[in-house]
Amino acid sequence: MSDIEDWKKIGIMGGTFNPIHIGHLLLGQWAMEEATLDGVVFIPTGNSYMKDRSAMLPGTERLAMTELAVADRACFRCLDLEVRRGGDTYTYETLEALHTMYPGAQLYFIVGADCLFSIENWYHPEKIFRRCTLLAASRSGMPLETLEKKQKELKDTYGAEIVLTAFPNVEISSTDIRSRRREGRSIQYLVPDSVREYIESNHYYENS
Ligand code: ATP
Ligand code: MG
Repeated sequence: MSDIEDWKKIGIMGGTFNPIHIGHLLLGQWAMEEATLDGVVFIPTGNSYMKDRSAMLPGTERLAMTELAVADRACFRCLDLEVRRGGDTYTYETLEALHTMYPGAQLYFIVGADCLFSIENWYHPEKIFRRCTLLAASRSGMPLETLEKKQKELKDTYGAEIVLTAFPNVEISSTDIRSRRREGRSIQYLVPDSVREYIESNHYYENS
């Protein structure tokens, strides 16, 4: 199914994607299989208040790299709604917007399982849980009982639908990719080739 309007189950990967890397793509792929999603939308943030801005490329540039990364997968899409809105972005607003855009679809918000312990501090958690199922990917090192306890707690408080799924550790981060660039080391195999070429030809992340 290549038309997003026809998707019944949409996965959502949010992130700064500064830059997008293989860990993000693998998580999207993993979530698709685990929850039998029709596809995953990757949504780069506007220039978020949560992150150190000094090494942060503008939203339009992070968006361009994300578009390159998903270009060869019909079930992976890149959406510009947060970048277009600019400034701080709140997950609940994005979920409301997606619900309006795709009213027939079930939304699955894909996060690392550690998010279960911070999501109550996000803006309007009750609105987040009203609009989506949380697909929480646990990595080794976090005991399942701890996660299940939190899952139940969020269910009782917010009626939250949370699916826990084990995701293998892929120790890749955008932070690591940026520091490799600063040190003049290769980022091949850590990001798709199209993204690497884009980064190299624009001399991104070469100086801190
Ligand atoms: P930074 O190092 O700049 O914080 P990052 O690599 O953590 O970047 P983000 O854009 O902050 O990437 O992450 C977006 C989402 O992807 C988050 O939900 C994060 O938990 C998840 N994520 C990031 N890296 C990985 C990875 N290697 N494996 C699985 N999930 C990841
Ligand atoms: Mg991060």
